Amino acid sequence: MTVPTLAMNNGVQIPQVGFGVFLVPDTETETAVSTALEAGYRHIDTAKLYQNEAGVGAAIAKSGIARDELFVTTKVWNSEQGFDAATASFEASMDRLGLEVLDLLLIHWPAPDLERYVDTWRAFEKLYAEGRVRAIGVSNFQPAHLQRLLDETSVVPAINQIELHPLLPQAELRAFHAEHGILTEAWSPLARGGEVLADPVITQIAERLGKSPAQVILRWHIELGNVVIPKSVTPSRIRENLELFDFSLSAEDLSAIAGLETGERIGPHPDTFSRG
Ligand code: NDP
Repeated sequence: MTVPTLAMNNGVQIPQVGFGVFLVPDTETETAVSTALEAGYRHIDTAKLYQNEAGVGAAIAKSGIARDELFVTTKVWNSEQGFDAATASFEASMDRLGLEVLDLLLIHWPAPDLERYVDTWRAFEKLYAEGRVRAIGVSNFQPAHLQRLLDETSVVPAINQIELHPLLPQAELRAFHAEHGILTEAWSPLARGGEVLADPVITQIAERLGKSPAQVILRWHIELGNVVIPKSVTPSRIRENLELFDFSLSAEDLSAIAGLETGERIGPHPDTFSRG
């Protein structure tokens, strides 16, 4: 299965489907990522917080896949925000991943109470200028946080990775991104495997198309233009979550899924979350 890529605002291509590894213990990460790479994933999403960058790096090293065919994202955690701390966090992540150049570095949360995301971004701009990262972006940024970066710094974020699923479709943020050339990347694209997978709106579309509920939701993301990073440690699901490009949803399907919005979040609210 060949996964399409999307161009970020600096021309670098990102595979539209990646493999997320949040909550995968480091000891199981090498196996899960190896399964994903065998299934055809070429994009892996990790973070300092997940404590499994070493497992990701081990799977990449073992795979024998050319470095330029892989896209790797990691993130700087709240407690390591600030110019020097973020730079050190990046270098430590690179050591664990065993990589020389990273594809995408993200500020994990804006943590506005800390007042450090602008300084953190300046460190990212320097790493980008030095060629250590091919693209820089943010995660969980609200329009006000993005606007501050646009006003006070030079590089427009390539991507904003946000909580996004049928219960929380994030129309306002997606419109802001589209206006400013920022790609939208959906975390917890399956609402963490929750009840939405059993919602009759989803299961009826799935039955009609001969697809699984997860595939219907992931296809919905693809049609919105989102990058998605579903996580699974189950080999059959890892494969299933990549098989999204031999069917499409109708306008009626899309509007039925739009009706599932409740505004419910799985994660904390980005305006107030600043845990270290
Ligand atoms: P997901 O929406 O990807 O859901 C993962 C859950 O769904 C797991 O319990 C998995 O079970 C289950 N699942 C996966 N595929 C299927 C399927 N085909 N059918 C049924 N159930 C399925 O949630 P995540 O929160 O993990 O989000 C994905 C990624 O997003 C993370 O791994 C991480 O990389 C990123 N993320 C980023 C955040 C941020 O703040 N930037 C916050 C949270 C996540 P099982 O594994 O048992 O198969």
